[in-house]
Amino acid sequence: MLKTHTCGELNAAHAGQRVTLAGWVNRRRDHGGLSFVDLRDRWGITQVVSDPAAPEAARNLAELRIEYVVQITGVVRVRPAGQENSRILTGTIEVLAEQVNILNAAKTPPFYINEEVAVDESLRLKYRYLDLRRERMTRNLVLRHQVVAFIRQHLSERGFIEVETPILFKTTPEGARDYLVPSRVHPGKFYALPQSPQQLKQLLMVAGVERYFQIARCFRDEDQRGDRQPEFTQLDLEMSFVERDDIMNLIETMMTALIGSVGDRRLHAQPWPRLSHADALRRFGTDRPDVRFGLELCEVTDAVRDSSFKVFSEAACVKGLNAKHCGSFSRKQIDALTEVVKQYGGKGMAWIAIGADASLRSSMGKQAGDELLASLVATLAGEPGDLLLFVADAAETVNEALARLRNHLGDELGLRDPQVIGCCWVVDFPLFTRNAAEQRWDPSHHLFTSPLPEDLPLLATDPGRARGAQYDMVWNGYECAGGSIRIHQRAVQERIFELIGMPMDVARERFGHMLEAFEFGAPPHGGIAPGIDRMVMLLAGEPNIREVIAFPKSQQAVDLMAGAPSPADSQQLTELHIKLA
Ligand code: ASP
Repeated sequence: MLKTHTCGELNAAHAGQRVTLAGWVNRRRDHGGLSFVDLRDRWGITQVVSDPAAPEAARNLAELRIEYVVQITGVVRVRPAGQENSRILTGTIEVLAEQVNILNAAKTPPFYINEEVAVDESLRLKYRYLDLRRERMTRNLVLRHQVVAFIRQHLSERGFIEVETPILFKTTPEGARDYLVPSRVHPGKFYALPQSPQQLKQLLMVAGVERYFQIARCFRDEDQRGDRQPEFTQLDLEMSFVERDDIMNLIETMMTALIGSVGDRRLHAQPWPRLSHADALRRFGTDRPDVRFGLELCEVTDAVRDSSFKVFSEAACVKGLNAKHCGSFSRKQIDALTEVVKQYGGKGMAWIAIGADASLRSSMGKQAGDELLASLVATLAGEPGDLLLFVADAAETVNEALARLRNHLGDELGLRDPQVIGCCWVVDFPLFTRNAAEQRWDPSHHLFTSPLPEDLPLLATDPGRARGAQYDMVWNGYECAGGSIRIHQRAVQERIFELIGMPMDVARERFGHMLEAFEFGAPPHGGIAPGIDRMVMLLAGEPNIREVIAFPKSQQAVDLMAGAPSPADSQQLTELHIKLA
């Protein structure tokens, strides 16, 4: 080893010891004829100071430049009183340099590594290996490792085994496009990269594995809207002989323990709230509610049906929320809220501000009448100092706009504490959503989700009313996992293919192996797949998943460091039997 200690471990107990450190020059400064070098490695920073009694080492130290790779041998001493640095782990000591050995020089980096300053993201991604040297990024890598290590241990202790499944496979659809890999030896044929190991983990259940997990890479070719990556990592998990609650309880116990032992976030509430899909929409306007704060929605459609205020009485749906203690918002502040509503499809926002003396200001004017205002105030439990906000439109629009407005207010009012993780479950999703354009049903989750046992007969009579045995794990308003109890009978699976409008020959070509496997003693089974990237992002308090992935793609799905995707040479294409259009 080129070092005896890391740069993060020396303290006063090591005083007098001769040590050898190796790492990067984080910073150098000269002061009173002495050179001070902050030496950095993955574990921390140690201050090295020149010793007039070792003039050659002192000269070498004075020559070091930022990001040089060096090995330094010296003696640990306690820093003189008043010179301690409580911001670093080794802040009570320094190392008096006896020998300084440059292992490699370095060009001046294109951005600061030793300071947390804003740097253009494309520059960071181009020089990702330098970006990852920064303390914040190192911390994220370590946190991610801890999360995965925790999960592996927790599940291993409970009888799960990790099984690797192929990357070169056949379409495993999760609602995105496949990445295809051309076969050289089978001209004109392609592998598909798995959008998830869904089918393979189900086949492992047929195989009798009973408790499977995998830290699995998933590939989805999607338009890069929002915070997505073409490849990402899931904790993929499947169990046999279970019901919905078994999976939810297992995951809730594990994640509660995870949040308690990795990173420094706190869990909002325990047990996690479980909401039906319908309740989530009713109370929060979304199936991804942030349960860290209130400001719940309240439907008033029926209450305003007979009012003279046409915007309300003629709307399909009217809902409001009570922004507590915002009654003194200025017009400008309220207009900003209206903008949020408009941004998410609402035509506008009506409001009632309740003064400290209980007097009412309102956007609805005379037309609404005192009676309507008073009844809305009562319905939303408005108190002096509150601000009531309403949106009237089609139900989906009302829900979308108010859900966004609620989160916006949560941010504005400081109700979304980043130190807290608010977890909940959403269950009882409709099994299908109607695809009106294509005249068919689309699966809300994926093809393999079973209906709730009591809703099974509805597949024959009224599929739109069938609920799926699905459960989503939501953290701080992000969908962090989806899972379900699966279909394990061929006839039911075939009925689903039929309902989603997949011709039986196509279904057999794509999924014949699943249908066949179900006929060889497939046990009842179910599973889930929490997204590692999202969870680590929230545990790290980062704004997007790129910050917790070592080598992410840009938002245009490009690797800016290596330049991928890139052209293939003509020989490769010929071998693969590909002609470019
Ligand atoms: N395969 C699903 C997904 O990737 C998760 C699951 O149902 O277990 O979302």
